[in-house]
Amino acid sequence: MKKILFVSSEAHPLIKTGGLADVSGSLPKALAELSQDIHLILPNYQHLNTSEEIRYVCSLRVDNRDINIMETRLPHTNVMVWLVDYAPFFNFPGNPYNDANGNAWANNAERFTLFCRVAVEVAMNRAHLNWKPDVVHCNDWQSGLVPALLSLEEHRPATVFTIHNMAYQGLFSSSQYYSLNISGRLWHPNGLEFHGMLSMIKGGLVYADRITTVSPTYALEIQTPDFGYGLEGLLRHRQDVLSGILNGIDVEQWNPQTDPAIHQHYDMNSLEQKSGNKTALQQKASLPVNPDIPVFGLISRLVEQKGIDLILDCLPEMMAMPIQFVLLGAGNPNFEHRLQNFAHLYPHKMSVTVGYDENLAHLIEAGSDIFLMPSRFEPCGLNQLYSQRYGTIPIVRQTGGLADSIEDALPESIANGTATGVSFHQAHAGTLMEAIKRTLILFSHKETWRHLQRNSMRKDFSWHNSALQYLKLYNDI
Ligand code: ADP
Repeated sequence: MKKILFVSSEAHPLIKTGGLADVSGSLPKALAELSQDIHLILPNYQHLNTSEEIRYVCSLRVDNRDINIMETRLPHTNVMVWLVDYAPFFNFPGNPYNDANGNAWANNAERFTLFCRVAVEVAMNRAHLNWKPDVVHCNDWQSGLVPALLSLEEHRPATVFTIHNMAYQGLFSSSQYYSLNISGRLWHPNGLEFHGMLSMIKGGLVYADRITTVSPTYALEIQTPDFGYGLEGLLRHRQDVLSGILNGIDVEQWNPQTDPAIHQHYDMNSLEQKSGNKTALQQKASLPVNPDIPVFGLISRLVEQKGIDLILDCLPEMMAMPIQFVLLGAGNPNFEHRLQNFAHLYPHKMSVTVGYDENLAHLIEAGSDIFLMPSRFEPCGLNQLYSQRYGTIPIVRQTGGLADSIEDALPESIANGTATGVSFHQAHAGTLMEAIKRTLILFSHKETWRHLQRNSMRKDFSWHNSALQYLKLYNDI
């Protein structure tokens, strides 16, 4: 049995802005089910979504600040969570990283440095918790300083750093570095310095014993200039300790047989029932109820990464076709505005909900026929996994986790029963449009479509498989 400290800045359902929260909410649970002794550590944000008790455990002084550690349980699991409680940094409403306009909070460097310092105290068993982990598993730049700071310690636990998205690096000015009071031994180009700036992600990439990312293809892509953001050389240098493990999904929460947020339950042997969800979705989206018209769904942060601009370029042509499109997302105000304009122009074909709505997300997965995910890059991606589980055929760009989880519907893969979606290569509106047309042809062949749906629904994306791979990694260090 391993003792694992899992360090993350978000975990579903306590607090979530994206895929990191899904992983941090699910992987610890799956590891606990494999009889591992795992604790999660998170900042104590103001609005944690839980009805579990939160109790005070101890206090410690870190960097001249008095910190409390609170303890709670990850809802619906046996995983204990330690919350780093420092009100001036974490006790305010809203997004953990950005203000309402999407600008980073001015004191993010201080906030997450303090979080990392406390995690190090816990990892070194200096926080009065009487527990010392064998492995500290850190995630993304917010916990990047943990492997760096631990590298300065004797008798430290092993460290793993997982990259969920290379696009977010935690870059801060050198003057901020000096004001953070971090050891000068870490400040050099082979350490935390990146072109004269402090790079928190480098703390993980340089100092962790093992680096993982969330799909095998993304592990290769980030070693190239197109995806490495200037860190591709470092990643190539560390390729012997770098690997990709595809994320799983929470198969209880995303289960069309039991999902409380959908209208009609179904499985791969009762796919005709899925149409009840299509009707409910069409009604909810104020679109004409029509069982035959193909419904496209999309749930996403509305940012360039997700290929939203490609979709905007395709929309004039799509809107001339006999289709419907239900979109849920929030992000770039320009994208939001342009998408809403289309919904305004084509109220019988397109519905746009700007915002974050988990129930609607479930209904879109269940009620759509086709799911659009033309990401420019995608470390793993979750919605294409949910889509397959719900028999909703994804159209994806062949990159990162999308490439690793979708088998393109070509004559051979259709014949041998492996096809689960449609994929395309170039990030151009033209190639996306071709993929859309190819999908509509498949949709018109009812029998082939049913095969695709069943192939998709048969796949096992449970966390159990991924957790076994992480456990092997912990044991190998
Ligand atoms: P990323 O982490 O890059 O945003 P992922 O596909 O890995 O992308 O994970 C996104 C997660 O957030 C999925 O669970 C998705 O359903 C959810 N999500 C994204 N936008 C919304 C939204 N507007 N409403 C509800 N859920 C959303």
